[in-house]
Amino acid sequence: MRFLVTGGAGFIGTALCNHLVAAGHDVRALDDLSAGDPSRLDPRVLFHRGDVRNVPMLWTLLQDVECVFHLAARVLVAESVLYPQEYNEVNVGGTVALMTAVRDVGVPRVVLASSGTVYGNQPQQPVREGLQPQPQSPYAVTKVAAEHYVFTLGKLYGAETVALRIFNAYGPGQRVPPAHAPVVPLFLRRALSGGSLVVHGDGSQTRDFVYIDDVVRALEAAATTPGVNGLIINVGSGVETSVKDLVRYVAAVTGREPSVLYNEAQPGGVSRLVADLTLAGEVLGYSPRVSLVEGLRRLLDQDPQFARWRVSAPGAARA
Ligand code: NAD
Repeated sequence: MRFLVTGGAGFIGTALCNHLVAAGHDVRALDDLSAGDPSRLDPRVLFHRGDVRNVPMLWTLLQDVECVFHLAARVLVAESVLYPQEYNEVNVGGTVALMTAVRDVGVPRVVLASSGTVYGNQPQQPVREGLQPQPQSPYAVTKVAAEHYVFTLGKLYGAETVALRIFNAYGPGQRVPPAHAPVVPLFLRRALSGGSLVVHGDGSQTRDFVYIDDVVRALEAAATTPGVNGLIINVGSGVETSVKDLVRYVAAVTGREPSVLYNEAQPGGVSRLVADLTLAGEVLGYSPRVSLVEGLRRLLDQDPQFARWRVSAPGAARA
């Protein structure tokens, strides 16, 4: 098949592009490199640098594409609180621009990377797709809006559409920006370098950490499985892990005993979140394969950012 992946030089985009091209597909990647890095892309992926809001450029990139994965977005919850306008312009404006070009070119299917954060605080856990979203941050609002645009415009323009609500993805290639870094690679790096782990709030807040390979399999299935038009589907591990537990696992896989500092809770965060994966199993045949401890080990083994510590942590304890 021929695919376009927007945000294709990002963390999930790179893993997806490399997987698809290795499976024999024809893959184009679009990214403005505001956060992405094309150096990790398989050379067989046709990379194009550009902004997803550029509709004439999309007309060219979408020629003969059978499915577009829409991943291009600003992705940091805490940053979105500071810059909601920018998040709206890229995440919502980019989605509308893409759907316009999908209509013009006649692309048959769009897979949107939405997010588990759209659920916000829900009394019922694990969360099912039918629950009313309670977004707590501008980022989550943009994902709710993107879902509505993709489904509404897809129906009007005759394109099949599916939205995957991805929970906390982690794995090799995830960036650690200087501010608002994702917790998994940040904790590993701090633990290995002898720094402290900063926990926001009391550490009892829970998340659903899902390994990148599981996310990629779900995305691929969403593009190729019949009968998913109009569906929202959770993609997580189905396991609820508190930040305190994550600290424990990080200590175990690194073989270090990092000190933990408690700071005030970050705005836009939620107290509990874990995915119900019933629908993903039924319609995509999805079930997660990689446990958190196994995923942390793979991350340490495979991500070059941890390479310099590998020799010095040979006896890392088993979790
Ligand atoms: P990422 O930041 O690594 O990837 C996003 C990519 O989009 C970056 O490479 C960035 O350069 C690119 N981009 C940003 N603005 C752009 C624009 N205007 N035009 C073209 N490219 C642009 O983040 P990621 O973790 O790989 O996330 C990918 C997608 O999955 C995002 O839509 C994100 O919201 C969604 N998602 C991620 C997670 C997660 O845990 N990583 C969870 C839920 C949903």
